[in-house]
Amino acid sequence: MSEAEALAALRARVRAAAARVNRTPESVTLLGVAKGVPSPRVVAAVRAGLADVAENYAQEAATRRAELAKRIAETGAAPPRWHFVGRLQRNKARAVAQLFDAVHTLDRPELGHDLERHAAAAGRTLDVLIQVNTSGEAQKGGAAPERVHGLLAASAAWPHLRIAGLMAIPAASDDPERTRPAFAMLRALRDSLRGNHPALVELSIGMSSDFEVAIEEGATIIRVGTALFGAREST
Ligand SMILES: *Cc1c(COP(=O)(O)O)cnc(C)c1O
Repeated sequence: MSEAEALAALRARVRAAAARVNRTPESVTLLGVAKGVPSPRVVAAVRAGLADVAENYAQEAATRRAELAKRIAETGAAPPRWHFVGRLQRNKARAVAQLFDAVHTLDRPELGHDLERHAAAAGRTLDVLIQVNTSGEAQKGGAAPERVHGLLAASAAWPHLRIAGLMAIPAASDDPERTRPAFAMLRALRDSLRGNHPALVELSIGMSSDFEVAIEEGATIIRVGTALFGAREST
């Protein structure tokens, strides 16, 4: 299947899932996760209309970005918005603040301070989502749900970060219904915080195996890798 065909098939599934809960397909941003995907396929997807592309690795982002940007420009396609969805180390905050338009994985105040400092130095404003650890697994990234309020309070000191919503990576499962409670929990958390933080609108939830359930639970951004690009060559 070509990237254009895969994108069309995905969009049809997004439309159907959105229709089931009386949402418009435009209320869901399809984010293509490009980790392990050869550049020509990412370029083909952007040419076919993919407007948002995500990377996981800050380390390789600079060279990869330059190469992709050049190839995309050669096709005449509009450049996509670049999202960072990987685990973020403090020593990579500078590269991420310089290279990405949106960061989905803010989970501690130190990282917010670093991103703010580097975004300010670069003269940029980043869209930032707070990653929440919905499963309580200690080895996973993400702030514990009870810490999100504190992070939001700290964000008042970060004028170059627009805290736009919440993100989660629930434990993967063969049965998408099993991730539904985690999605619902994140949505309830966002709704409970929204009174004091009206800018908190985005819910970045749902991947290839469960994005339809995520849309039913209110996802505004779905992060799709394999269902768009096929099996990864490497991660
Ligand atoms: C790889 C990855 C995805 C996409 O995973 P698929 O199952 O291939 O759709 C989404 N989000 C994050 C954070 C990822 O690392």
